[in-house]
Amino acid sequence: MRIVGARVIDPTSGTDEIRELSIGDRAGTIDAAGLIATPGFIDLHTHLREPGFEESETIADGARAALRGGFTTVCCMPNTEPVLDAPGLLEEVRERAAAAKAARVLPIGSITRARKGVALSDMAELADAGAVAFSDDGAPLQDARLMRYALEYARATGRVIADHAQDAVLAANGVMHEGEASALLGLPGIPSAAEETAIARDLALARLTGGRVHIAHVSTARGVALVRAAKREGVPVTCEVTPHHLALTDDWVAGDRTFAWDRRNGSAAAAPYDTATKVNPPLRPRADIEALWQGLRDGTIDAIATDHAPHASTYKDVEYDQAAFGISGLETALSVLLDAAGAGWIDLGVLIERLTVGPARCFGLDAPSLARDVVLIDPDAEWTVAIDALISRGKNTPLLGRRMGGRVVAAFVEGEQRLE
Ligand SMILES: [Zn+2]
Repeated sequence: MRIVGARVIDPTSGTDEIRELSIGDRAGTIDAAGLIATPGFIDLHTHLREPGFEESETIADGARAALRGGFTTVCCMPNTEPVLDAPGLLEEVRERAAAAKAARVLPIGSITRARKGVALSDMAELADAGAVAFSDDGAPLQDARLMRYALEYARATGRVIADHAQDAVLAANGVMHEGEASALLGLPGIPSAAEETAIARDLALARLTGGRVHIAHVSTARGVALVRAAKREGVPVTCEVTPHHLALTDDWVAGDRTFAWDRRNGSAAAAPYDTATKVNPPLRPRADIEALWQGLRDGTIDAIATDHAPHASTYKDVEYDQAAFGISGLETALSVLLDAAGAGWIDLGVLIERLTVGPARCFGLDAPSLARDVVLIDPDAEWTVAIDALISRGKNTPLLGRRMGGRVVAAFVEGEQRLE
């Protein structure tokens, strides 16, 4: 397929120019004047919920939602039921994903058996079966000695530990960031220290073992500072941030609906205690958000990952402290990020790098190729985030009802057009 007239942003060569692209072997031409072409995005952190929680998401629907969001590759977290802690389960995920013919799905194996934090999974077997990384995401590994061993296996297998860095004892029964907003709302808080102490511990263990640690969804200013210092020292660490942590302050729990960079129109406030704002790690205050952007721009943060966490409404239509953690994020990520770029918070080329080459580097994946995996973006298209507009079964996003700009209008995976 020939694509003509697009503005092609190629983060591998650092070029940004109008030129022709040739993808796959099929004949045909797409007139892409006015569109942006980039390599397909890679999401290092997606929850697909299958097997076990198909009412919240399926592999097929999640992979289709990914493509709609511009992600041609997603790495899926193992917190399914059963947990992805055996080679046969990884194989099943890969087969179902292949049948869906949407985004490529790369499974992440669990660090510990059934994610119980007690005994390691057979990490070597899982790596052989195609695990691209290991994680106990959602159930942060509390046992430092076990994490040490996990990092040693990660090193031996050439894989990465994707680390939900959080001290569970400190986080306790918190449901949002511990600060002014939580005090006002009377909700139990999760202190920033719960993240900071866990990152510090795991950086020390990466230094000790030489195993690679990837800090998932960093959300605090001091977390970013710890990673920055460790990188300078040569500790094998990479790091990701989510669009919601980049855009939404903890005031969103109280009903604010203004993006961190947007003070132009002060969007209409919503009711407080909207469970769609409940996410772990929690939304943080503006000072943290500014530090996250600084880290993203200077390369301390290597990748933007969605932490797409779809939930059926039964898990969210309950009291705030009873609701499940998580935001459905695959389909809104690009629009949110383009809004930030439009406000001057990041250069578009850097943004695309953090969605493509950056994540590939974190997990040691093949570099994205403009000959195989490509997305076409209409930067001027507008759409409204609505239940019917979302392909994902998870409609749990505090952006529902919001008018957004930027839309993926075509996506190619392995040379084949899978979204048109
Ligand atoms: Zn997590």
